[in-house]
Amino acid sequence: MNILVINAGSSSLKYQLFDMRTESIIAKGICDRIGIDGFLKHTPVSNGKPEYSSGIPLPTHAEAISAVIEKLTSADYGVIKSLTEINAIGHRVVHGGRRFIESVLIDDEVLDAIEACVRLAPLHIPANLLGINACAEKMPGIPQVAVFDTAFHHTIPEHAYIYAVPYKYYEENDVRRYGFHGTSHRFVSAKAIEYLGGKAEGTKIVTCHLGNGSSLTAVKNGKSIDTSMGVTPLEGVPMGTRCGSVDPALLSIISEFDGISLNEAMDVLNKKSGMLGVSGVSSDFRDIEAAAGGARNEGGAAENALRKRAKLSLDIFNYQVAKFIGSYTFAMGGLDAIVFTAGVGENSSYTRAGVCALLNGVGVRIDGEKNEQRCSGEYMDITGDGSIAKVLVIPTNEELVIARDTIEIVGK
Ligand code: ADP
Repeated sequence: MNILVINAGSSSLKYQLFDMRTESIIAKGICDRIGIDGFLKHTPVSNGKPEYSSGIPLPTHAEAISAVIEKLTSADYGVIKSLTEINAIGHRVVHGGRRFIESVLIDDEVLDAIEACVRLAPLHIPANLLGINACAEKMPGIPQVAVFDTAFHHTIPEHAYIYAVPYKYYEENDVRRYGFHGTSHRFVSAKAIEYLGGKAEGTKIVTCHLGNGSSLTAVKNGKSIDTSMGVTPLEGVPMGTRCGSVDPALLSIISEFDGISLNEAMDVLNKKSGMLGVSGVSSDFRDIEAAAGGARNEGGAAENALRKRAKLSLDIFNYQVAKFIGSYTFAMGGLDAIVFTAGVGENSSYTRAGVCALLNGVGVRIDGEKNEQRCSGEYMDITGDGSIAKVLVIPTNEELVIARDTIEIVGK
């Protein structure tokens, strides 16, 4: 059974086609710059055919899906003969609101309910819907499943998800902590439980999904009991360009200082803050680590000032991540494992070492040598001698979770 997994953004559409007999990827790719000019990168994985990578006109998501179908079935780059070899399509949907606490088969009523979540994720849901509608148009009759980023967090208790603002905003406007990256937190926490012996009951894990967007989750007994992102993905630790948790009064302070509207000030917090805002270098951790490194006191004063700010942004990030791990350890009444995942968590030994050094005082230890290695398998255990908790690097695989949920729902 083949499952096509789609992750549609406003100007991009990523896809992976899975053979679920072996849970292996047959082909994958990305349509980029949709609505601008268009670019398609398609990689046949299963049969050694060449990669396709070229600019092609992609005015809307419908043309993007057509291009994906054409490549998947083409003689030169294809991996299947026809669309009948795609049994179902799984979509990543960013927000499921209060209603969607698990993955669902998409029908008209579900589509309406997803549309009703637009006000909670105005940048993301419309793009997800474009992807779903384009698939319905170009691949009619193939069942589609929605897998929600928020669903794993539906087990968070009220006292952790209600904001201390007038209750009517929750009752009348669905304002609460939802959390995101749920598919990733679910995948890596399940893997960690497997590693710890296979029984979810009694386990206390903090999963750190650290990428462009970052969130941490307290996973107790296999269930999310708290997470750092909130009603939107702006809350929590600082991110590539997002500020994370700040004093909400900053919004009006920035707006007054710059003479801009509150919406424009929101833009500053979403797009110009975080690692980019502090470092002034980049939102990308590799660039920042490079800028922060090198010999001290070399170069001119300006260069040193930049280096200091790059280092400061990494220090702020590590501190906030460590603070969340600490508070979740108390919230869960203990800690069995810290899991690092996503672009930064999986690849940055600097971040892992920095975060764990801040937790050294409470007994978290990593093995410096193991931390420098690359995780090539499903796990990398970097726990040091005498550590009170395991420290694990577990590569996330959100697409596989989506494919698994999809097959589960449409039947084997
Ligand atoms: P997204 O949230 O867009 O899915 P990713 O999980 O792919 O993001 O993470 C992207 C981030 O991971 C970037 O900031 C990138 O610099 C960082 N990253 C990737 N590889 C490394 C590395 N070897 N060292 C440090 N950071 C890395």
